[in-house]
Amino acid sequence: MTLQVDHETKAKEYIHSVYETVVKRNPHESEFHQAVKEILESLTPVFAKHPKYMQHGILERLVEPERLITFRVPWVDDQGIPRVNRGFRVQFNSAIGPYKGGLRFHPSVNASIIKFLGFEQTFKNSLTGQPIGGGKGGSDFDPKGKSDNEIMRFTQSFMTELYKYIGQDTDVPAGDIGVGAREIGYMFGQYKRIRGAYEAGVLTGKGIIYGGSLARTEATGYGCVYFVNEMLQSQSLGFEGSTVVVSGSGNVAIYSMQKAMQLGAKVVACSDSNGYIYDKNGIHLDTVRRLKEVERKRISEYVKEHPHATYHEGCNGIWTIPCDIALPSATQNEINEESAKILVRNGVKAVGEGANMPSTLEAIDVFLKAGVLFGPAKAANAGGVAVSALEMSQNSMRYSWHFHEVDDKLHTIMKNIYKSSVQAAEEYGQPGNLVVGANIAGFIKVADAMIAQGVI
Ligand code: NDP
Repeated sequence: MTLQVDHETKAKEYIHSVYETVVKRNPHESEFHQAVKEILESLTPVFAKHPKYMQHGILERLVEPERLITFRVPWVDDQGIPRVNRGFRVQFNSAIGPYKGGLRFHPSVNASIIKFLGFEQTFKNSLTGQPIGGGKGGSDFDPKGKSDNEIMRFTQSFMTELYKYIGQDTDVPAGDIGVGAREIGYMFGQYKRIRGAYEAGVLTGKGIIYGGSLARTEATGYGCVYFVNEMLQSQSLGFEGSTVVVSGSGNVAIYSMQKAMQLGAKVVACSDSNGYIYDKNGIHLDTVRRLKEVERKRISEYVKEHPHATYHEGCNGIWTIPCDIALPSATQNEINEESAKILVRNGVKAVGEGANMPSTLEAIDVFLKAGVLFGPAKAANAGGVAVSALEMSQNSMRYSWHFHEVDDKLHTIMKNIYKSSVQAAEEYGQPGNLVVGANIAGFIKVADAMIAQGVI
């Protein structure tokens, strides 16, 4: 017992010192600090039980990206005016496979955001059980209000620099916020033109007719709902007859809504970066899809076609709507402590993080203390990257699976992620805490691979 306490104290001291170094070495990178803190703190029981992980500089190496590339992205707008944005690619960890992670185009993108996403991605990718390392990238380019030609010129310029650092065996980007099928298509075209070769496996999220995988578009949203369903079933609950609130109205949100509806839930609200809609009869998903995927309009337009629904400016208010299940699927830190308390007060039973780091550390604490079933992002939204890895497999085989084959594999992967998170949480003394479980299960595989490969 005393020895265990001693190990725990040493583990805590070690973790604290690594975290302090991260803060000192990466000043002003609050999102990166937050992601590192969440993961490191949950690893205490692993270091206490297996002090070997303290001997190989594992944490010191894990928190330092293998490479962070930044570059200029010049492009010309429709008025003929030259514009300059900044491009990023972080190649975080390649212990278990080529770097893999999406590209985000959003004005908020900076080194801190890209590093938090790349760090998280390393553990998420490990959790999927597939051979993929962690990476992430993007630009502070704002796609909103840009013409199709401007999007094409920007993405071509972006790829003209990025192509030097990626490849099907080195680093395989995909989409994220602001990067969907259209942007991936333009980037793939430019990569092919520069390389003079058809290397389909260099990007995932491609169109079906040129190497994409069926069910990739749906994967993150469907996967999140599959994961939440596992949590609910463990308590003899389910989506059938439940009320669901989903934030966002992009890729993850739309397919979370679709799967939740297919499982018998009523989705009453969704949002965009300006505000949210509440439809007590249940959101009409075809309208949302047309407005956001085809016409690229604001979610506020929904109420013109469904006058019984209401539109509310601002994003936070969405969490005041009573629901059984909340699926935050827009962006980081969208649920703060106050919103979490309101959700709990209103009786929320489960929260599944479709977005990356949508809940603040304080909000997660509120959910866990209240006994809410909580599916952390790196487990709950891992379905997207899992199917991206399946897209890579199909590209290597020059073959494609049917929709149901990919969907079945996705479902199995999400069940396995749930199981390994539950098991790790139990083994390390925190049963039911899937934040800890997912972090530990993701960490152990990467750490063991790093030890096996020596100090590099
Ligand atoms: P999209 O660009 O398709 O959609 C993003 C949605 O979130 C839009 O409705 C957007 O509103 C809204 N949004 C974006 N920024 C903000 C903000 N600052 N405040 C409020 N709302 C905002 O992105 P995805 O659906 O692909 O990604 C959503 C989240 O899921 C991200 O955190 C991403 O990292 C994560 N994720 C995505 C995966 C994928 O496969 N796509 C995989 C795993 C995680 P608007 O229309 O106004 O821009």
